[in-house]
Amino acid sequence: MRRDPYEVIGVARGADDREIKKAFRVLARELHPDVNRHDPEAEEKFKDAAQAYEILSDPERRATYDRYGFEGLESRGFTSAAQGFGSFSDIFDAFFGGDPFGAFGGRGAGGRVQGGDVAVEVEVTLEQAARGSQVEVAYDLVAACERCHGSSAEPGSEVRTCSNCQGAGRVRAVTRTAFGQLVREQVCSACGGAGQIPSEPCSSCDGRGRRATRKTLDVDIPAGIANDQRLRLSGRGHSGDQGGPAGDLYVIVRVAEDERFLRDGSDLVSVVDVPAPAAALGTKVSVPTLDGDKEVDVPAGTQPGTVITMRGQGMPTIGRRGRGDQQIVLNVAVPRNLTARQRELLTELRDSLTEANLREVADESILAKVRRALR
Ligand SMILES: [Zn+2]
Ligand SMILES: [Zn+2]
Repeated sequence: MRRDPYEVIGVARGADDREIKKAFRVLARELHPDVNRHDPEAEEKFKDAAQAYEILSDPERRATYDRYGFEGLESRGFTSAAQGFGSFSDIFDAFFGGDPFGAFGGRGAGGRVQGGDVAVEVEVTLEQAARGSQVEVAYDLVAACERCHGSSAEPGSEVRTCSNCQGAGRVRAVTRTAFGQLVREQVCSACGGAGQIPSEPCSSCDGRGRRATRKTLDVDIPAGIANDQRLRLSGRGHSGDQGGPAGDLYVIVRVAEDERFLRDGSDLVSVVDVPAPAAALGTKVSVPTLDGDKEVDVPAGTQPGTVITMRGQGMPTIGRRGRGDQQIVLNVAVPRNLTARQRELLTELRDSLTEANLREVADESILAKVRRALR
C-alpha cells in the first residue's frame, strides 16, 4: 500500500510549492545517510520521500494525483525516476548532486557549497549521563587545506581567470533531473565555481583546496542525555567548498547499560534481595544509587515485589531542575540449602503459623495487585 505523498512529506493538501519544498528539505536533511547509518530503513524512507516530492513538485503530476490518485499517474504514463534508483547514493546524487533545491544550505554566488554533515558515535556510562560530562570525540572530516587555506593555489603562484565561465563561476546548462528537464545555472566544471584557476595547484591538496583530516573535539554531554540521543554541533562538519559554510557534526550518544540499574525515562529501577525471615522481621538493606550505597528501611512483613520509591535518586532531565526517582523492587528470597538446625527452626515456625499471620498477606497479595492493574 503506497502512502499518500502529502502524508509522506508532511504537508496539507492545499500546501503551496514553497511549503512543499521547505518540508522536503527538512525531511531530506533528517534522512541524510551520514546521520542515519544505524537506521536500515532510512534508505526506504528517503525513497518514499523522493517519490512523494517528485509528484508534489510537478504541477502536472500533482494535479493528476489529486484527481485520480496513483492509478491516474500510472495510466497517464508518469513513471517515477526515484523508484528506479538503485542505491541511496544514486538518489542523493540525482537530487542533490548539483544541489538544485539547496537541501543542504544551497549555493550562493559562484560555487559556494555548504559542507556535508558528519556523524560520530560516542559511548558514555550511565553515571556520565546522569552528571553530564565532557567527552573527547575523534572523527574524520574534509577540512580546508592548511597550505593554501582553501584557495587551491600553491602559495605565491599566479591565478588566472577561468576561460570556461569568464570568471563567473557558473554556466547555464540544461540538466535532466528526476523532475524533468531543468534549465538552470550550473557551477562551472572547469574551475569548480571559483571563477579562477591556479597556474600551479597547491602541492599539499593537489589543488582541491580541501583535505581529509582527523579531528578531535571535546564535546559536552548534557546531564540527563538519553540513549541514542543526537547532539548537533553546528559548523563542525565537513568544510564547505569555495568559501561555503561548514556542515554540522552529529554526535550520537550511546549510554552503556549499567548492571545495577534499569533506566525508565528519568526513573531508575533496581532490585534488592531480602531473605524471607528478614522481610518478615523488618530489616535495613544497602541499595546502590548514583550517589553511592544508601541504607533503606524494609518494614516488618514486607511482601515479594514490594516497591520502595527513593525520591530524587533517579536521572536528571535535560534542561530541567530536579531528578527522577529510584524504584527499588524488593525480591524476597526464600532460603535454600538448609542445615538440619535451620530445618528444625523453620518447621517449628511453619507449625506455629496461624491464619492471622497470613490474612493481611492475602489482602494485599500479588493477586490483588494484578487485579488492580487489570482494571
Ligand atoms: Zn592546498
Ligand atoms: Zn569556470
